Amino acid sequence: MFNKLPIELIENICNFLELDSLQKLKKVSKIFSSTLSNQIYWKLRCTTDYCFDSPLILEVNWEKKYESLYNSICKFCYKKTKCVNYFYNDRICKKCEKGKSKYLTICKTDAMKKYCLTQKDLVSLKRLEVTNRHNLRYPIKLYLKTDVIKISYERYFSEENLKNIKYTRLMRKHNKIIRYIFKHNILDTILFNYHSIKLEYLLPCINIYTKGLYIKYILNIGNVQKIHISEIIQKCLELDFILKYPYFNRHELGREFEYFAEFILLTEKDEDLLYSTVGVYLTAKLDALKINIKQKLNRKYKIIEYFGKIKYSLSDSEIYSYISDNIGNIHQIKFNTIMENFLIDNLDYPDILFRIMVTGSAEKREEIYKDEITKFYSEGGTLPEVLYDKYIKGAVGAAPETNAACLD
Ligand SMILES: [Zn+2]
Repeated sequence: MFNKLPIELIENICNFLELDSLQKLKKVSKIFSSTLSNQIYWKLRCTTDYCFDSPLILEVNWEKKYESLYNSICKFCYKKTKCVNYFYNDRICKKCEKGKSKYLTICKTDAMKKYCLTQKDLVSLKRLEVTNRHNLRYPIKLYLKTDVIKISYERYFSEENLKNIKYTRLMRKHNKIIRYIFKHNILDTILFNYHSIKLEYLLPCINIYTKGLYIKYILNIGNVQKIHISEIIQKCLELDFILKYPYFNRHELGREFEYFAEFILLTEKDEDLLYSTVGVYLTAKLDALKINIKQKLNRKYKIIEYFGKIKYSLSDSEIYSYISDNIGNIHQIKFNTIMENFLIDNLDYPDILFRIMVTGSAEKREEIYKDEITKFYSEGGTLPEVLYDKYIKGAVGAAPETNAACLD
């Protein structure tokens, strides 16, 4: 068929083809072979494709010249380059490649996100894998943007459709995030208001310590929530206790918790293979730790339960010593806390403290308390029940309920 075409037309067809195609054509077709053996044709291509010309027309093998230009010169800026575009097999320098939309690439994650595609959709496309600086084990997979757009439109028919689908997905994601935050906030509020625990301090360790229970609770947005919030609160109480009390640092356990937390963090990032071993390790460590702190935890829960709605801080020195070293009487501590709260809220506490400091004796302190509280009551103030019982009804001296039960 080609044999009947005029030579100008053959040349015209050739002008649209790249060197490798031309070389193949030359081998299979007589008419192409004769056109492509013509040095004048190659001279023309050297000029049009690469702006290359020479006055020494006869001395130059123009076909060879074209081949060498083709194999060394960027087809856009005519500068020498070693780069060949992976997708088109074009010799093009990196600088020119960046500026041309034809060569734009998109990574797998973006392709899936921006064009609502799945891994399966992308399987048929040609892809380039480049080293991932952040994670050497997982190379970045690049696709031609034009390829990705094409299959996205094949799937969603129009840009309008794609936009709607993206919007719906975004809304669904926002709703999810709102639910996560809602759950997190409830937990935060309960922990802070009822247990004086700030969730933010626990966050770096909580998932490790609860063996993922926390994340499962927060992230489960299905209708069936198998984990009860009380389980998480229980774990938070334990964890807060472990983290907050420097007591453990003085023992041979030392920074045990932090060490194994670190260990878990490091290994969990690895293969799933390790998980069962880590699970066993974690359970053993936690059990050992729990046995060690069990009595202290019990004292902490006792405080939390017994103190009820009274304002207090677990780091208060009396409460702290009671929990960690079993020092003091829980009833006396509660009484002292109520007393202190009352003084802070109703009287000039710094002044009273100063007077006690100056006198320096326990008897004088009791006198000062009695004076202040009696005065407050006689002026019509309302007293907490325990203060009324002691200072107004007149149980003289001793602390109430002196027979503290042994809690351990
Ligand atoms: Zn270039």
